[in-house]
Amino acid sequence: MLVECQSRSLDEAPEFSPRVLQTLRQPLESGELVLHRSGGAARYPARFQLVLAANPCPCGMSDTRAGQDCTCTVTARRRYLARLSGPLLDRVDLRVHVTGPSRADRLLGGAGESTRVVADRVAVARGRARERLRGTPWRTNAELPGPWLHDRLGKERAVLGPVERLVDDGGLSLRGAHRVLRVAWTVADLDGRDLPGRADVDTALALRSAGPRG
Ligand SMILES: [Zn+2]
Repeated sequence: MLVECQSRSLDEAPEFSPRVLQTLRQPLESGELVLHRSGGAARYPARFQLVLAANPCPCGMSDTRAGQDCTCTVTARRRYLARLSGPLLDRVDLRVHVTGPSRADRLLGGAGESTRVVADRVAVARGRARERLRGTPWRTNAELPGPWLHDRLGKERAVLGPVERLVDDGGLSLRGAHRVLRVAWTVADLDGRDLPGRADVDTALALRSAGPRG
């Protein structure tokens, strides 16, 4: 059964119970939800894109006016963000720290690209990946098994040097390494190339490490 990827978002994600958040781990990894019952296990397709949003602290004010309005203790802030750490965060590929718009932003308006322009670029990149994966069971980089991606790099495996060093040092899980490689391949697709280079791997690592600040 083929199911289109759906996007789901959890605003104020640390406010969800740890049990609910941890339940997301399995479908995020396998793309299916497995329910175990006395009569056996039922499997449901559950491939989706998850967007987790979190404030930098429980009161949400530590990013405003240099944090002067924040009333949270250091302990409360750490505990709040810790709810998103560990195994769940290991499955989050892109981590972006977003600050509120400055006065200049509000006065001058957004100078960035329009959603339409970005959507067109994403469509081209996904088409490139789909073409590359013709004849395989997969259509997007997100579905690809890590070892398959690794083999596909062929002689270019040296680009993974920084990733391998991080894995060796314990700074990145093997699962995380595979996820970095998938993102690197997507960065290359967005740039119109079929193989990721060292710069794409560096970009993927940077996107993964810009997480919530404790
Ligand atoms: Zn606060």
